[in-house]
Amino acid sequence: LAAHRSGQNSVHYNAAFMTAVKENLSLLGDLRRAMENGELSLHYQPKITMSSGKVCGAEALIRWKHPQRGWIPPGLFIPCAEQSTLIQAVVEFTLTCSLKQITEWLDQGVSIPVAVNVSPRNLIHPGFVDNVLSCLDHYAVAGNLLELEITEGALMIDMERMIGELNRLAQHGVRISVDDFGTGYSSLQYLHRLPISHLKIDQSFVKRALTDAGASHIIESAISLAHKMHIKAIGEGIENQATYDLLARQGCDIAQGYAVSHPLPEHEFIRWYAQHEKGFSFTEQ
Ligand code: C2E
Ligand code: MG
Ligand code: MG
Ligand code: MG
Repeated sequence: LAAHRSGQNSVHYNAAFMTAVKENLSLLGDLRRAMENGELSLHYQPKITMSSGKVCGAEALIRWKHPQRGWIPPGLFIPCAEQSTLIQAVVEFTLTCSLKQITEWLDQGVSIPVAVNVSPRNLIHPGFVDNVLSCLDHYAVAGNLLELEITEGALMIDMERMIGELNRLAQHGVRISVDDFGTGYSSLQYLHRLPISHLKIDQSFVKRALTDAGASHIIESAISLAHKMHIKAIGEGIENQATYDLLARQGCDIAQGYAVSHPLPEHEFIRWYAQHEKGFSFTEQ
């Protein structure tokens, strides 16, 4: 009756909605199975210091190769996992996998801080910080080799508690960066009270930097805000040399993006690292 009264469209809408719900449920079921079957892995994308071209870190990005569907992008299944407690298992996986990777690289004489993406739901989970600290302890990794990327919005939930929790991580040397900076609604006053080490300027601004004066001004402001907070600015989603050069001129400290390297599986990453140990530059490309 309700469908009849509100017309055809709502019937279509409901059908589409139900399909989406079913799709999500089957994706979640598959994800649960995928974790047990080892279908998940991490790729690593280098971050480089713009002044020297030297690698200063790597972002761990989750990858899922589904036996039937092939690669499923995190943009599809992470938001889905975030709606359930499964996101707890995801961060557990990315943390342990990254820490193992750090120790393997250290064994090869390579010391690279790894950044793990943390969902809002992970961060507000009461045992989260204790879990991170016990993982560091378990793998005997120094806190300063781990970085957590947290979006602005997540930092603004339960601010007072967040300040205490993040300070506990910072006391162990763990770095906190603000991911997708500029797309959320963070209060600058609060941002200042958090132990943040990097601002990652969102790709949407970086992509438009060359063609849109507004985007370019936002990038400049974010860089100057970072520097006033005595922290570093990272440009993400840098796809070409012209954008790289522009951000370098604007005083950006660190670069990440396809222009430097795509995210790579661990073996390719270490090969890329060895090739660029003296410093990445466009002329040698
Ligand atoms: P993010 O943390 O902002 O990650 C950056 C995304 O931009 C990655 O996409 C990366 O592959 C992509 N990217 C890097 N450079 C370029 C570039 O030059 N051009 C373009 N067009 N894209 C570039 P990816 O791996 O598909 O991840 C998308 C988002 O999924 C991430 O955004 C993050 O929010 C989420 N995500 C990925 N891995 C994890 C994870 O392990 N845990 C959680 N909670 N979220 C994750
Ligand atoms: Mg990130
Ligand atoms: Mg980002
Ligand atoms: Mg993002």
